[in-house]
Amino acid sequence: MQIGCHVSISGSIDKSVDNAVERECSAFQIFTRNPRGWHAKELVPEDIGTFKSKLQASKIDRLATCAHMPYLPNLATPKDDGFAKSVQTLIDEVKRCAQLGIPYLVTHLGSHLGTGEEAGIKRLVEGLTKAGETKNDVIILLENTAGQKNSVGSDFKQLGEIFKQLKPAKKFGICLDTCHAFVAGYDLKTKKDVEKTFSEFDLHVGLENLKILHLNDARGELGCNLDRHYHLGLGGIGKEGISAVVKFANKKKIPIILETPIDDDRDDFENIRVAKGFA
Ligand code: MN
Ligand code: MN
Ligand code: ZN
Repeated sequence: MQIGCHVSISGSIDKSVDNAVERECSAFQIFTRNPRGWHAKELVPEDIGTFKSKLQASKIDRLATCAHMPYLPNLATPKDDGFAKSVQTLIDEVKRCAQLGIPYLVTHLGSHLGTGEEAGIKRLVEGLTKAGETKNDVIILLENTAGQKNSVGSDFKQLGEIFKQLKPAKKFGICLDTCHAFVAGYDLKTKKDVEKTFSEFDLHVGLENLKILHLNDARGELGCNLDRHYHLGLGGIGKEGISAVVKFANKKKIPIILETPIDDDRDDFENIRVAKGFA
């Protein structure tokens, strides 16, 4: 089983490996830099070396690590300057992943800001294709969305249509977020619901393209479109559904990453223990 959570790089990027090991992760996700700004300081060669050697010394498989894009880029924006900046950030992040030996970069699909899905998708495909031209082994993963206003890619059929336009195919994959899928209307409450949702995903997107699973319960109910993550088993999806998802991902050998909250009820340590218990 490959399971872990999003971990902090605070201090220096290699600290993320310490944080993952401390939480008994066998998979983890990071931001390679501050996710709330446009600017990223270049990675320091010494830190890259330390990150790699710590990862090698841990029991964590390099192939079970991923990075997540920062928050500001919008690859579906109609604004030319914002689009150019977003694509450049995506390219930069792909390169940073390559430097760190991280195989996957998760990206959101963005917002068309009211110009319509067709226009948004056209931009998105253009931007992703450009980033796909970088010469390295990093795979860009498209994350399904919660279905908020003006977003694209919450519907599996649409996600599949976007994905199939991307070339070269080997540079792209999918990250499925269970909270996003559930609030977008894909039921995951029972074992049967989970089977049905994954077979629908398989039909439109292809399970072979699923490289990372974001395992989050949802604060809201089925189809509410609210992107609020919650502790495993305690949200709208609940124990039976989360447990079925964990078993499914394990069977398919897909690394599981938690993006659950840290509050008085639970922290990462506890949510990871709970997830392992479901296996
Ligand atoms: Mn995300
Ligand atoms: Mn996610
Ligand atoms: Zn989310």
